[in-house]
Amino acid sequence: MSERADKARPRVLVLGGGFGGIGAAQKLGKSDVDVVLVDKNDYHTFQPLLYQVATGLLDQPAVGHPIRDLFDGQDNTRIHKDSVTAVDLDKREVQFTDLGAVGYDYLVFGLGAEVNFFGVEGAAEHAFPLYTLSDAVRLKDHVLRQWEAADKDPGLIEDGGLNIVVVGGGPTGVETAGALAELYTGLFRKDYPDIGEDAARITLVEAGPEIFAMFKPDIRNYAVEALTKRGVEVTTGEVVESIAPTRVKLKSGTELEAHTLVWGAGLQGNALVQSLGIDLERGNRIAVDEDLRLPSHPEVFAVGDVAAITDAKTQQVLPQLGSVALQSGEHVGETIGRLVEGKDSKPFRYHDKGTMATIGRGSAVVQMLGGRTMKGKSAQLAWGTVHLALLPTNENRAKAIVDWAGAGLSHQRSARISVET
Ligand SMILES: Cc1cc2nc3c(=O)[nH]c(=O)nc-3n(C[C@H](O)[C@H](O)[C@H](O)COP(=O)(O)OP(=O)(O)OC[C@H]3O[C@@H](n4cnc5c(N)ncnc54)[C@H](O)[C@@H]3O)c2cc1C
Repeated sequence: MSERADKARPRVLVLGGGFGGIGAAQKLGKSDVDVVLVDKNDYHTFQPLLYQVATGLLDQPAVGHPIRDLFDGQDNTRIHKDSVTAVDLDKREVQFTDLGAVGYDYLVFGLGAEVNFFGVEGAAEHAFPLYTLSDAVRLKDHVLRQWEAADKDPGLIEDGGLNIVVVGGGPTGVETAGALAELYTGLFRKDYPDIGEDAARITLVEAGPEIFAMFKPDIRNYAVEALTKRGVEVTTGEVVESIAPTRVKLKSGTELEAHTLVWGAGLQGNALVQSLGIDLERGNRIAVDEDLRLPSHPEVFAVGDVAAITDAKTQQVLPQLGSVALQSGEHVGETIGRLVEGKDSKPFRYHDKGTMATIGRGSAVVQMLGGRTMKGKSAQLAWGTVHLALLPTNENRAKAIVDWAGAGLSHQRSARISVET
């Protein structure tokens, strides 16, 4: 595909079908270009709800949506499932595992981030990260297996078989710890009546002095209370030193007995940024100008988690959030459309809808741009509204509403089944 089939139309190559890539490609639907979108998966992952898959609240199709569905009727667009292996900015060419080399006139780099284990011993082998749909299914299956095994062999409980350590006091760690605690105390107690109430501990470990460092103190205190109420032990100022299959060692010398460690402690830009041969920002992110282009290659744009985008209002690098990825992707799609029509580009402006997280049923937090905070049910409603808008189709939105309402009313987690393949 390296040779351009139709030289008359520019080819826009979009790498990644996350919020950023999808936003860019969809905005190009009516432009006089050929769009080629490639992702290693044939589905778009809605990461904000991964912890709900991991805890049996939602099943996989509620969180992974076929990418081709999102371009139904968009005639100028082709979707391929393939992995990017290298990018040559000077040759204007991307290498893929199966497609080989694909040339482009415009490139949208939206390959997202990946887990950063910060070199912690044993983390890559034994930790359970929560960044992809397969991570979420793997964690769910592992937890279900542990409970089934403990039900048959009480010795496993004494060895910490049901205990979970969650690393990282940011939104991913807090949301996951809260959801796991609800699964443990709400359902597993009923599912496994012979396993005692004190058979399982969930410990959240944060290296900094407080959890939810990005939030104001009232939200931080609320989060600690909400987690504690659900039975999560919150430990701050402790750093994980090493992870073995059944033990977690902290730098302070404490050893925690736990057969499950969930890693929610850090991300870095997709490793492929290394192949670009450019200077990178902190966390392996690509520095972009106000139009979201690479200053050295103005036909190349970076969007979403992999881009270090400076907010025009605050002059701070924007956080790795779904709304940043979607808005930056859409902006790039519009920009390329304008350039193709011979118009000028416009600088990117981010519309901040607030920073938010859910700790459990009825316990969410929201911090607005001006500093106003919301907690509890009103924050949960705001969280739901903002995240419904991020879901890719009306069908997904309707399904999420039904699932959330069903789970809220019945307290059931009907996706807590393990399917052997
Ligand atoms: C557990 C969790 C909870 C979150 N909660 C929230 C939240 O509540 N609110 C919020 O706003 N944000 C949340 N986020 C952040 C949000 O999901 C991300 O900011 C957003 O997904 C980034 O979008 P993106 O398009 O940049 O990258 P991604 O969504 O990661 O998409 C990148 C795409 O690139 C593909 N890809 C990667 N490597 C290759 C390759 N070599 N070849 C081909 N394809 C490749 C991937 O398959 C993926 O589809 C959460 C993230 C996580 C992990």
